[in-house]
Amino acid sequence: MGLSIKILGSSSKGNCGLLQTDHACFLIDAGFSKKQIQARLQAYGIALSDLSGIFITHEHQDHAIGLKALRQLPAVHFYANSNTAQAIETRYPSSLKATPWPWSVFTTGEPFFIDSLSVQPFPLPHDAAEPVGFLFRSGNESLAWATDIGHINETVAQALAQADTLVIESNHDETLLWKHPTRPTSLKERIAQGHLSNADVFSFLQHSQHAWKEIYLAHVSAECNSAEILQALFQPLAQTKGFALHIMDPLAL
Ligand SMILES: [Zn+2]
Ligand SMILES: [Zn+2]
Repeated sequence: MGLSIKILGSSSKGNCGLLQTDHACFLIDAGFSKKQIQARLQAYGIALSDLSGIFITHEHQDHAIGLKALRQLPAVHFYANSNTAQAIETRYPSSLKATPWPWSVFTTGEPFFIDSLSVQPFPLPHDAAEPVGFLFRSGNESLAWATDIGHINETVAQALAQADTLVIESNHDETLLWKHPTRPTSLKERIAQGHLSNADVFSFLQHSQHAWKEIYLAHVSAECNSAEILQALFQPLAQTKGFALHIMDPLAL
């Protein structure tokens, strides 16, 4: 049994992952247009019609903008908790009133199965209706996906430490955020409260006793961070701790 992840894009501008098991293909979030997602899937030889479902973390645009168009796909389930489902219906109203949204509603904190894939949604502190991260398990493989995290609390830390592969946001460099010349202070405060800085992630990884095999740094700010900064900070840690490091370059989107 296998579990593999491809990140179709992850930055403050849009987030979407492709999760594949031996039997099925899923998206994690849909923060790009349907056309964009289709093109990015095509690069991996996957068609929209190959998708079985979409796991949705929360309703913010950079995670959910593509859902309105993707709901027209037959046989694609939208996995979300009820508060997120409701927030998405409100935020992205559609003329397709007669077609119900294809929700498969889960309860945050309660694991569920899709065939052999185990999915555990866990709560994240973030300014949305009921934001979650996901811990996926299939056979011997496990993966945690967590972006948009205000801070790493005990629940989050425990979930992340159960995975071999970790996709975690490393949103901003604190100095670049606070010194940004044009962003209003209120926005800076919102970002600092709702997203992890490089220093937050570094400290968590450095102090954790868990040995991840692979770590993807995601949801990277294009204006207040860079692949170079992340590389310089995290590559020595990757060598010491023995994990493979992948950095999602926000300029490569
Ligand atoms: Zn968000
Ligand atoms: Zn986001």
